[in-house]
Amino acid sequence: MAGTRRIPLRKCVGCGEMKPKKELIRVLRTEENEIVLDTTGKKNGRGAYICNSKDCFAKAVKSKGLERSFKQAIPAKVYERLEKEMSEIEAR
Ligand SMILES: [Zn+2]
Repeated sequence: MAGTRRIPLRKCVGCGEMKPKKELIRVLRTEENEIVLDTTGKKNGRGAYICNSKDCFAKAVKSKGLERSFKQAIPAKVYERLEKEMSEIEAR
């Protein structure tokens, strides 16, 4: 196969940098309007991407990047859960 290797890039909702999809965590809004982390990358729904970093998460909360992506308000409780899930991923 000739040509350039295409690496899918996605924009982090925290720092705003474009990064290879697999370096980012997918945040997903399910059909039930739940905001969850999609660690498998296989769930259906509207997705946003964020670096696996507490800094980016804090930035996303502050800038409301996720709320903009999903076009809905995100309760503090949901952010707390996402943050916890992210720290569990980091610990792996
Ligand atoms: Zn980032």
